[in-house]
Amino acid sequence: MTQRAGRVVVVGSFNVDHVWSVAKLPDTGETLAGEYHTGPGGKGFNQATAAARAGADTVFVCALGDDIGGQLARALATADGIDLRDAHSHAPTGTAGIYVDADGRNCIVIGAGANASLSPAFVADQHDLLGSASAVLAQLESPLAAVTEALRIACAAGVVTVLNPAPANAVASPELLALATVLTPNETEFVALLGRAGIDSPTADAIGGLGDDALHALCRRLHPRGSVVVTLGAAGCFVSHAADALRGDTSGTYRIAAEPCQAVDTTGAGDAFNGALVAALASRPGAAFAEHVTFANRYAGLSTEAEGAAASMPRQADFQARFGPGDG
Ligand code: AMP
Repeated sequence: MTQRAGRVVVVGSFNVDHVWSVAKLPDTGETLAGEYHTGPGGKGFNQATAAARAGADTVFVCALGDDIGGQLARALATADGIDLRDAHSHAPTGTAGIYVDADGRNCIVIGAGANASLSPAFVADQHDLLGSASAVLAQLESPLAAVTEALRIACAAGVVTVLNPAPANAVASPELLALATVLTPNETEFVALLGRAGIDSPTADAIGGLGDDALHALCRRLHPRGSVVVTLGAAGCFVSHAADALRGDTSGTYRIAAEPCQAVDTTGAGDAFNGALVAALASRPGAAFAEHVTFANRYAGLSTEAEGAAASMPRQADFQARFGPGDG
C-alpha cells in the first residue's frame, strides 16, 4: 500500500448524515429525545474517501447544492486530495435523517436533493476522464441513467468497472449489470438481484451458509461474463471470479474470512470494501484478483473499528500499523 498509481473515478452520491441515537425508534406521532451527531455520508462519497485513503489518485463525480452541505463536501474532498467534478445543482445537497436505537436498529430517510440531478449529459462531459481511468466505481444511489452512462463510457474504453448494487431497493437494468467487470452485492442486495432476474435463491440470512458450489452457480447465472464478490459482513466475503473479466488472471471460487476486528460501528463497511477494492485494482492491475479482495477485506474490517461512514475510512498509516507495509 505504498503506490499512488492508477486513477480511480467514483461516480455517486454525497449526503450530509443527521443521526439521532434514541432508546427506541419513534412511533407515529411520538416525540423523543435523542443524542445528535452529523457527518459526511452518501455511498459515493464514502467509497471515494476510502479509495483516496487507500492510496488511489481519486476523482469523485457528483452533484452538490450551493449550500453548507456542498461546502462541507468540497472541504472534505480537498482534505483527502479527492478531485471533485461537481454538477452544480439548484437543489439542496443530499441529506439522510437516521434514527438508531439502543439495539443498533435504524430508520433512515434520504433526501436525494442535488444527487437526483446528476445527469447522463454531465457524466458524458467526463468522457475523457472516465475513458482514461484505471478503474471506475459506481453505486445505485444516483440516477441510474447517469450511472449507466458512466459504465458504458468506461466499458467502451476497456476500463475495469466495479458496480456496488446498493441500496437493495434500487432496480438496476440488466444492461447496467452487464456493464460491470465486478459486481459487489452484500447478501441482501444479492438476493434482491437474483429475485429480479427470476433466479430462485434462499433468504439473505441463508446466503452465507450455502456451499461454495451453490453460491458460485448463483453468481454465474446472475453475472455470466463478470466477477461477483458477495460481502458477508462479519463472515468476510465470497468470490466468484471470471478470468475473462480481468485480463491476465485466472478464474477462481473462494471465500476470504473477515479480519478479526474490534468492530464498534459497521456503517460504511461495504463502502470501505468497494473503495479499497477499486484502489487496489487501479494501483496494481497485474496482481491476482484474490490479492485485491484480500486487501479490501482487511481495509473494510479496519474501518469497523472507528465510528462514522466516510470519517471511519482508515488512512494508509493506520493500515500499515495494523497489517505492515507492502500490502495492497
Ligand atoms: P457488509 O457490507 O456488511 O457485507 O460488510 C462489508 C465488508 O466489511 C465485509 O466483507 C468484511 O470485509 C467487512 N466487515 C463487515 N463487518 C465486519 C466485522 N464485524 N468484522 C470484520 N470485518 C467486517
